Amino acid sequence: MRIILYLLLSLLDFLQAESTIGDCSVALLYDGDDPTKESVFAGAAEDLGFGSHYIDSVQAFRSYDALDKTCRMVENGVVAVFGPRSEENAHIVESVCLNKDIPHIETRWNYDPSKSTNTLNVHPHGPTLARAFADLVESANWDTFTLFFEDNDSLTRISEILKRDREFSIAIKQLDGNGTANYRPLLKEVLKSGHNHFVIDCHIDRLTIVLQQAQQVGLMTSDYHYFITNLDLQTIDMEPYKYSGSNISGVRMIDPDAIITESLATLITSRQSNTEEDSSNVEDIAPESIRLETALIVDGLQLLQLALEELPDMNRCVTDVTCSSLKGWTHGSTAINNMKMTSFEGITGLIKLDAEGHRKDFTLDVINLNEDGLFKVAAWNISHGIRSLREKEQNLRNMTFTVITALTEPYGMHTDSETSLTGNARYEGFAIDLIHELSKIEKFNYTFIIREDKSNGSKNETTGKWDGMIGDVIDGTADLAITDLTITSERETAVDFTTPFLNLGISILYQKPKKSPPNFFSFAEPFALEVWVWLGGAYFIVSISLFIMGRLCPSEWTNPYPCVDEPEFLINQFSLRNAFWFTIGSLMQQGTEIAPIAFATRMTAGIWWFFTLIMVSSYTANLAAFLATENTESAFNDVYSLLKVYAKENIKFGAKNKGATMNFFRDSKNEDFLTIYNYMKENEQSVMVDSNQAGVKKAEDEKYAFFMESVSIEYEIQRHCSLKMVGETLDEKGYGIAMRKNFAHRHILSTAVLKLLENGKIAELKRKWWEEKKGGGQCMGQDTESQDAKPLSLKNVGGVFWVTVGGTACAIVLVFLEMCLHIVKEAIKHKASFTAELKEELKFYLTFKGLVKPVRLKKGDSKSPAESDKSEKSEEQEMQEMPNSYGFLPEILNKPPLD
Ligand code: GLU
Repeated sequence: MRIILYLLLSLLDFLQAESTIGDCSVALLYDGDDPTKESVFAGAAEDLGFGSHYIDSVQAFRSYDALDKTCRMVENGVVAVFGPRSEENAHIVESVCLNKDIPHIETRWNYDPSKSTNTLNVHPHGPTLARAFADLVESANWDTFTLFFEDNDSLTRISEILKRDREFSIAIKQLDGNGTANYRPLLKEVLKSGHNHFVIDCHIDRLTIVLQQAQQVGLMTSDYHYFITNLDLQTIDMEPYKYSGSNISGVRMIDPDAIITESLATLITSRQSNTEEDSSNVEDIAPESIRLETALIVDGLQLLQLALEELPDMNRCVTDVTCSSLKGWTHGSTAINNMKMTSFEGITGLIKLDAEGHRKDFTLDVINLNEDGLFKVAAWNISHGIRSLREKEQNLRNMTFTVITALTEPYGMHTDSETSLTGNARYEGFAIDLIHELSKIEKFNYTFIIREDKSNGSKNETTGKWDGMIGDVIDGTADLAITDLTITSERETAVDFTTPFLNLGISILYQKPKKSPPNFFSFAEPFALEVWVWLGGAYFIVSISLFIMGRLCPSEWTNPYPCVDEPEFLINQFSLRNAFWFTIGSLMQQGTEIAPIAFATRMTAGIWWFFTLIMVSSYTANLAAFLATENTESAFNDVYSLLKVYAKENIKFGAKNKGATMNFFRDSKNEDFLTIYNYMKENEQSVMVDSNQAGVKKAEDEKYAFFMESVSIEYEIQRHCSLKMVGETLDEKGYGIAMRKNFAHRHILSTAVLKLLENGKIAELKRKWWEEKKGGGQCMGQDTESQDAKPLSLKNVGGVFWVTVGGTACAIVLVFLEMCLHIVKEAIKHKASFTAELKEELKFYLTFKGLVKPVRLKKGDSKSPAESDKSEKSEEQEMQEMPNSYGFLPEILNKPPLD
């Protein structure tokens, strides 16, 4: 018996467990004009787990039809009926629902909301909304304005403005347009009236036309101010008015930047692609284009779902209720009460109904149009009225923020302490100090919490969800996130950042290069190859020049026997061999016996000595630098050379997993960077690390290049002396403090960060945590790279080559001057003409007959060769016969000396 009872109870449990809202159905009766409403209702109902849904349309003033359709829905066992919009139809549905104790959920504006206990309206309560509009118009301090309305509803909406005590001078105009939608005459009339402040209350479609026509008639300039009451203002294209200068403000309830709104936009897009035959035609729905009523349907459905989940499983759905029977849904009133008790953050803000089922506690965002589009400037709420963002910002005093950080050195670390610490004192580091400094300026309190996995935050490509600290900020776990959190455009779409407090770029952390063995030809290193080549060229050219000049300069032809007054031939010391010997002798700083005589050769020799002086000194100085420098061999110098050698040299490279660095390579358009990303993805297990510390260790222990952010590299190379930063940074970015989108205090925190940057506090904190604390400064001065010696190139010594060229050119001029002078002298001596003498000389030079030049006799001073032999002989004899006053006898050459 016990066993049977046990089995029965188990079966009951099982059935209860299965009975969820998946067995319940919901219905929508619509008469409105928003085509997306239907598909959004269906999609949201499915998403929220309702088993089925019924959607039907009814025309206004067709009461019987509305009744019939509502009854059919009730008979289908729906747990709630949504809609319709028109007053008459809504009353029909309301009475059926009241009768059958089924929730009736409305999403329409209603100035005189129903008192029915079964009807709940998630639209902001009509009279409260009217009060909000009046508050906003009043706060604008307009004394004179024109109020545009379209029908009775719109007049009641703005009636509250008229009731205010202030002495407004108001003109009221109806936008009926006589069915032609031509409001120009009316607008022109307003233009003439001189009013320049307007309140417009009309349907969103009409509003689009009114604004267009206002622009056409000249009412859209910087002189005009508009306040628009339509809560769908942000769904219309404001592009044409952005630059008009007119001040357009309005209200909204949907934050287009909220994740929940983006999800709804995705849902609508996907529903539309499912229904369209050609899904490629379906354009993505922008969050800004979602209308309030559509969002209210989803919020209403969610409210229903939450309320039903409060009911015991078995009571959740409706069975056996018909319009003809007396019976209603037994648990209907409990479900309705649950809905009134539940509150949650929906797409349209806080969903919270009062005991009458009205939504009075709602917040309106006040929006303003500027050149970037519509942006939030203030918020209105029944409890605090209008609060401008600035006002809110100014008030950080005594606020408490939860700040999330990670234990990434040196931004956040455990405090070194022998006693056990509590609260914020448990952590220290750059980020901790920075928050402390900000709190001192802005007088706020803070509590640190730690992200243990050190994940800064990345977006999941498939779900679109953010993890890490960015996720924590989005889901409200923390108000602020601070660590080495890079500001990226992708993250900016999900959260807001302060002004960057540190600037950086991606670079490479790698082992310092090993010392290379000295080069066999290291003596040649002080000069670059090009300098050696030019030096060789200069040596050759100067030697040849000396040789030629020696021949051409008359003074270089000397009497071989100085004691003989009238020699028969002259000799020249600048043979080719001697010329080369002379220049090499001076280049090597050794000198020779050869001494130039002529101006030109002396000048060339002087210039050459100057040249050798400079070259030899430069060589010596640079050689000293080379000898003092240890040659280091880098496997690569930047990211591009790393890519070339990593396979050959067996070097691995990677970055922090899911970090901004990895995403930089992922999103890059540069092919080399994409290759790096692909390599990192393919070898994820062996090259990607979860923290900077792990990457640094790997770089120390293995042949591993770690892509890291430059400021973090600076920190590590102060402590790990075997590591260095290789190459320039690949990009430029900064670290910022993250906070959720549209965080009211962003501006004030950014200003405080700027103050700390300007007064040098951040630089001081950086010095403290980078260079002084936790082993900083260990590796200072160990870098040998600063002593690097470089071979001298032509750029360094080019000038001295040019001086040599100039000197040689001057010497050539001197050669010709000297030659001319000599020819003139010879012409006079031989009583010959200049040209004849020149010919004679040239004949000799051009024949190149060795280094002996016969001396021509003066005219009339002719001697026969025999006589001359004789006289030569007698001279020889004379010499021999001369008393040997020097202790030796000069050897008299009979033959000219060999070259
Ligand atoms: N700063 C990076 C981030 O915010 C983490 C380190 C990195 O990717 O190099 O994701």
